[in-house]
Amino acid sequence: FDGKVMVTGGAGYIGSHAVLALLDAGFDVVVIDNLVTGFDWAVDPRASFVNIAVEDAGVRNVIREHEVRAIMHFAGSVVVPESVSNPLKYYRNNTAATRSLIESAVAEGVPHFIFSSTAATYGNPTKVPITESDPQAPINPYGMSKLMTEAMLHDVSAAHPLNYGALRYFNVAGADPEGRSGQSTVGATHLIKIAVEAATGKRAAVGVFGTDFPTRDGTGVRDYIHVSDLADAHVAALKQLIAAPAESFTFNCGYGRGFSVLEVLDAVDRVTNMTIERRVEGRRAGDPAELVADNSAILAALDWQPKRAELDGIVRDALAWERKLAEMGK
Ligand code: UDP
Repeated sequence: FDGKVMVTGGAGYIGSHAVLALLDAGFDVVVIDNLVTGFDWAVDPRASFVNIAVEDAGVRNVIREHEVRAIMHFAGSVVVPESVSNPLKYYRNNTAATRSLIESAVAEGVPHFIFSSTAATYGNPTKVPITESDPQAPINPYGMSKLMTEAMLHDVSAAHPLNYGALRYFNVAGADPEGRSGQSTVGATHLIKIAVEAATGKRAAVGVFGTDFPTRDGTGVRDYIHVSDLADAHVAALKQLIAAPAESFTFNCGYGRGFSVLEVLDAVDRVTNMTIERRVEGRRAGDPAELVADNSAILAALDWQPKRAELDGIVRDALAWERKLAEMGK
């Protein structure tokens, strides 16, 4: 593979792990990130780094200077309730910014594009586990902002010499098992991150957002996927795009099993040997009851085997990174 892989949002949580996976697999990487939510110290020094927004016209220069032949696009906004209260932020940072990035990619003839999509594009699923062909009917602006991007990629790949892989992530959690990266997000809202923050004294308790969902214990059920498995899936997806340049694909990224909020908190208690305080609160805006992936398509199509599906291991890695952050004073 000649040229570099450009990773947008490579200073962020999932992006920084993708950078590690790409470098470990022998790819050359340039990260672009405007550091609004990411951190320059999260970018592996083996990668080049440019501080620029994905919608900036200067991205075309980055593509040229670094001979970018593939783009992995992680940059964006990811908080479901925030998307409900501030939808235009999501249509700007996710939909409009990505439109500009795709335009830069097409103008510079970049042949491969991998997009961070989401299970939130399914809305309230008609059945679980969810397959890729199930109806997409987002129930929040976050999901819609990502669905609109999937539609753009579909149309652009038909009109221009670019193939894409859209990966619909379920709930990403954990941290690099070697301790090289993790989730450092300030003001994080995601359950496992919140829980390990509580375990390290960063917060007093964990809210349980709704106990009246139609699930086994009334709390929301999610398919938590280890961030390093997800990063490996991106490398496998890139290899597939390179091997079959006329074919695009869309895959769920999950393990095909779900855990409730209470089951996750039980795991955190087990791993930490603590009893973290739980505070039952009302449902959060935009939350579906249950999201679990049918992952048979990605397992069949890509050279990818999940290695870290065990919930306690995911929590352990998240906790180790949280302790490291505390040591670093972050
Ligand atoms: N959740 C919770 N307390 C928290 C954060 C999340 O009970 O502090 C619940 C949330 O309602 C959902 C699940 O945990 O059922 C996963 O939410 P998260 O924000 O981690 O990811 P999302 O599924 O919204 O992308």
